[in-house]
Formats: sequence, structure tokens, C-alpha cells
Amino acid sequence: MIRDRARCGRRASKSAEWSDGPICRTCYDRVMRVRGRCPCCDTDRLLPGRDTDGTPICRDCAGIVRDFFYDRCGSEGLLLGGRLCEHCTLADTLARLFDDGTGRVAPELLPLVKILLEMDRPKVRLIWLRNPNVVRLLQGLATGNIALSHDRLHQEAPWRTVAHLRDLLMDSGVLPRVDRQLLLYQRWLTERLGTIEAPEHRQLLRHFATWHRTRRLRTKAEKGPLGRSQTNHTKQEVTQAGAFLAWLAGRGRAIGQCQQADIDAWHTESLATRRPSQSFLRWCMKTDRMPRLALPPTVITQDSEPLHQHRRLAILRRVLNDDSLPLRARVAAAPILLDAQPVSRIVRLTVDDVTDDETTVTVRLGGPPSPLPEPVADLMRAYIQSRQHLPYTSRQERTEALPRPPARTAHEPSEPPGPPPKDRRPAAARQGFRDPPVRPPSPGTRHREGSRLPRQDSHSLGYRSRRGMEPIRFRRPPAMKRGTYAGSAEPRLSSTWTT
Ligand SMILES: [Zn+2]
Ligand SMILES: [Zn+2]
Ligand SMILES: [Zn+2]
Repeated sequence: MIRDRARCGRRASKSAEWSDGPICRTCYDRVMRVRGRCPCCDTDRLLPGRDTDGTPICRDCAGIVRDFFYDRCGSEGLLLGGRLCEHCTLADTLARLFDDGTGRVAPELLPLVKILLEMDRPKVRLIWLRNPNVVRLLQGLATGNIALSHDRLHQEAPWRTVAHLRDLLMDSGVLPRVDRQLLLYQRWLTERLGTIEAPEHRQLLRHFATWHRTRRLRTKAEKGPLGRSQTNHTKQEVTQAGAFLAWLAGRGRAIGQCQQADIDAWHTESLATRRPSQSFLRWCMKTDRMPRLALPPTVITQDSEPLHQHRRLAILRRVLNDDSLPLRARVAAAPILLDAQPVSRIVRLTVDDVTDDETTVTVRLGGPPSPLPEPVADLMRAYIQSRQHLPYTSRQERTEALPRPPARTAHEPSEPPGPPPKDRRPAAARQGFRDPPVRPPSPGTRHREGSRLPRQDSHSLGYRSRRGMEPIRFRRPPAMKRGTYAGSAEPRLSSTWTT
């Protein structure tokens, strides 16, 4: 340890002792990069020395005995092993690593060697080339132990090192450019297949993933960059295909012995999760790897993805504003979109469940009555008004002639477009959502009109089944109901709601 009194003044290990004093390692490395015109002898060269003012001067003028000339290229600088410069050292290292076994650089890798030599800061490359994984990969590529292809590189680890090497190979044109998402997917696939224990499953999945799915992704990638969702979907297909094979093996069957009962049982649970396995099943059937069996239809609304908020609001906006839609559908859709009320509850709604006190329209959906937000309340008023004008001729017809479309009048004004209201769902509605909608019958009590209990006489059976399709239906004429709707001849639909 010395005190570097010449340059930095720190205590550090000595690297040289020149005319101005002992030099530490850091200062030595630093001055080995100082070049310029020496003020004493006016030559352009390395300036490791310092004059009395601290101005950088050349070795000769500073009286430094040691020389810094490279043996091979003749210029001055930091001497590495064998008195070589960084560039010459890098060239030698590359020549050694890329030796194909005959004493020369593997010809197909020459472009890679070229760009490595052309890069700035050869020292960084030299440090990279000390990484044992890099050494192994480069020597493998040079000797042909690792085939020069993207697919072969997917089998190599660690993936960060491989990814960097792959970038260099693509930059130099040694390997063709490949979509980034596709590369990530292929790396994932290699890892995924590695986790599958049964060899026959792994082989089958590799075949499916490589020849069926990856090829499709590759075709897409040729047209434009892949999105993450595309590769994510393919990952799910492969994952679920593997899950199906393992599940089937748990039932004691191989894919060739798969039966319709297996397919049905597989799809009865977690359908949304398992559905991506169907592309694998179809492929297996098409390639005669399994018997041809029926798959559940792909269009299944149950368990589908949840409705996103912006989509929900868009539909709600349309329901509230689009007068071309049937009023009945709009009235039925609004509680579903606002309060997530199940359709099964909407279809049981009767006109007795709706109360209008001129200021608020409340609806009883299973629980205590809850008020409707204003735009929906207007829709409901309009709909009940439109029901009032149906030509009821007799009591019999009044109850039976229900599943007919509501009479749409020309008087409905179109509402201004605007954002639908935020979820103004009152606590009562939320509670109603949780409560079961049907109350049990009280024994011995006569069925009351307006109650939600269906009549049990034979006459009502057909009536009930048809009523099941009607969102709002009448058990008694609306005019009889507290006189609320009897007054106005036209449906009142507010044209002024805004939010
Ligand atoms: Zn120093
Ligand atoms: Zn000089
Ligand atoms: Zn050199």
C-alpha cells in the first residue's frame, strides 16, 4: 500500500513509480487512456506523465523508463497480457473461442466476430468473454456441438446469456431476425415441455406445439410483430393440452383410448379454463391420434369473460339512448347492466313489483323495493305506459295474451346522448341481489294476484311457460293499480336527463 501523492492522494496499492511519485492502480489505468499532443515535444501520443503544473506529458518528456508500446500494432496504451492492446487481445480471444477445431474461425461465425471487434469498448467484450457460459456457448457454436439455429438455442441456458448472444447473432446476420414475442414464447415452451414428466406426453405436446401452434405464430409474425395476447393464448392451449393428458392418464387412459365420456367430464368443470385444450383435441382427432369425438360448442356464454367496465357502460348508454331497440329489451337490460341482476330474476318481475309515486320508480327485485335511477325509471314508465295500450278484450285474454312485443309509440322522444349514470345502486338493491327472489308459499293461503308465486292449477301451466319469456308482465290491468298510470294517455319519457 502506498500513498498516491503524485495523483489522487489516496492510499492504495502501487502500480508504478514514476518521476512524480508512486501511482495507484486507478490512476495508472486512467492515464493509460489519456492521449493528445505533448506540450513539451509536440507529438501526438499517450500522455502518462505530468509536468510540475500537472499538465499531461508524454513518457519521454516525463522521464518514465517503462514503455507502453504494443508488440503487435505498435501504438501506445494499457498493456495487456503479451504486451497487447485490448483490441488485439479481443481478436486473439475471439480467434481462440471461435476455433472450429481446425485452427481457424468457423466461417459461418465470421460476421459475428467482425461486429464484436468493431464494437466500442473492447474491454467490456473481454469481460463478457470471461463468462463461462459464454465460453461454452461460443465454443459449442463454433465446433458444431450447438447447431446454429433459433430452435437449438432455446434449449440452452441461462436464458439471459442466450438472449444476448441471440441478439448478436441476429444483428450480425448469422441468424435470421425473429419476432421477440415469438422468441419469448419459444423459450417458455422449452421450459414448459421440460417440466412434463411422462415422455409420451412431452413428445406429443412438443409435436403439437411445434408443428401446429408455433408454425401458426411464425406465419403471423411474418406479417407483423406479434402481440402478447397472441402468444399468451397459445401458451394456454399448450398448458391445457398438457393438463388434459395428465387428467386423462389419471383416469387410466391414453389419448388413443379417449372416450366421449372423458371429453364430457373434462369440460364439465372449469370450462373457461379448460376450453383452450380444444385446439389440441381437434388436432389429435384430425391426425388420428384419438377417436373422433364431439366437443362442446365453442360459443358458450356461460363462464365467459367478465364484462369490462367500458364495455358495460357502452351497452348501458345504448340501452338508455337507442330508441331503435325494443323498449322491452331496454327495460330488461338496464337492471342487468346497472345492478348485475340475474336474468332469471328479471323475467319474474311483474308490474306489481313496480311502484311509481310520480317522483321515484321503485322496483322489488327479490328484496325490499329499491329506486331506479332516473333514466331507467323513465324507461320503465314508458314501458308500463306502452303496456297499458294493449287491446285487452277479456279477462282470459288479458292474462294469456302476454308474450307479445310492447306497442312502441311514435311519441317516445329520443334522449340526448350522454354518459350513463354511475352505479347509483342503493343498498337495498345490493341486498336484493343477494336475496333469493322467490318466497316460499305460506300454507293455506290463497294465491293472491300480484304475488310472485305461480298458480298451480292446470290452466296456468302453459301460461307460466310462456310468461317465462316476458320481462315484465301483468297480472292485472295497469289502470287498476293505484291510479298511477291511468291518468296520462301518452308514455312519459323524460327527455332531459343528463349527468
Ligand atoms: Zn491514484
Ligand atoms: Zn513529449
Ligand atoms: Zn494492438
